[in-house]
Amino acid sequence: MLPLPTFSVLSPRSVADAVGMLTDHPEARLIAGGTDLLPSMKYGLFSPPALIRLGGVAALQDITTTEEGGLRIGSGATLRAVGRDPRVQRLYPALAAATRTVATSTIQAMGTLGGNLMLDTRCAWYNQSSFWRGALGGCLKCHSGPEGAICHVAPKGKGCYAAHSADTAPGLLLYGAEVELVSSRGARQVAVSALYGEDGRDWIRRAPDELLTAVILPPPPPGAVVHRKLRARASIDYPLLLTAAAFDPEGGPRVVVSAVGPRPILLSGLAEAFRDGGVEAVAEAGYKQVSPLSTHV
Ligand SMILES: Cc1cc2nc3c(=O)[nH]c(=O)nc-3n(C[C@H](O)[C@H](O)[C@H](O)COP(=O)(O)OP(=O)(O)OC[C@H]3O[C@@H](n4cnc5c(N)ncnc54)[C@H](O)[C@@H]3O)c2cc1C
Repeated sequence: MLPLPTFSVLSPRSVADAVGMLTDHPEARLIAGGTDLLPSMKYGLFSPPALIRLGGVAALQDITTTEEGGLRIGSGATLRAVGRDPRVQRLYPALAAATRTVATSTIQAMGTLGGNLMLDTRCAWYNQSSFWRGALGGCLKCHSGPEGAICHVAPKGKGCYAAHSADTAPGLLLYGAEVELVSSRGARQVAVSALYGEDGRDWIRRAPDELLTAVILPPPPPGAVVHRKLRARASIDYPLLLTAAAFDPEGGPRVVVSAVGPRPILLSGLAEAFRDGGVEAVAEAGYKQVSPLSTHV
């Protein structure tokens, strides 16, 4: 059994409280459902002195219709609440489907949409106990302390290839979703397509003092959007491959691929590939753009 380190808990009741606590306690970490954060702390990946518990901020759980005809989903809405919302099911079926492929129903009941989008990049060499990592000389992503010599996935490379593994991100990217980030400096909106970085260590374009408050979806695009996940087992498994695909009779295919590198990738040139060689040519074009490396053992 891996013990949790000791920490204190701060319990804000409003967004303003939470943002103030983040500013006043730069070493603290936000905790929503805790389904990723607590296991990571047990593995010794980080050990914050305090956790800011978002579960008491009711405003973060709201799902509301926007004036434009889209949806604003609070970051604290659970995956279960998002997946069961009739508006999400009708307007954004690929998002509803993605919430149901995360882990299991118990984790979907605890885990939140915000926590999912903020899910740290994962790697078989990183998401292990410190004992396991230490036996193999440590991991590049753990850049504090004595760890950090090489990336075991690509020992000759300079980067970290830990994979973005959040099930909801590819569909949200295709739907044109934005996230709202709030800090003591104000609020800003960032497109999901611009939220993630290219290195598994520097994977998120969010400042440490920013709170993700909501996911804002524009009205859905014409045509269907679908979510597909490949995993080793049919339940409780992180993805080996995630895809979201949009089929618009006017605009041609759009495909996002994830879980094979540090960020979801929107493939380009698919309309031409489809016209010239059909589905197989689309798959070939996608493989070349993604260049997957195995972060699973
Ligand atoms: C056995 C198991 C299987 C899993 N399988 C999958 C899977 O298949 N697919 C998948 O996508 N996930 C999976 N997960 C991971 C996790 O359950 C989900 O990603 C979940 O949505 C995380 O949400 P949470 O609210 O529990 O996040 P938390 O654990 O509370 O937080 C996750 C991270 O997000 C940050 N964070 C949370 N809320 C905010 C906010 N509002 N603003 C800024 N930062 C914030 C936290 O500080 C932390 O760094 C799995 C977890 C387990 C234990």
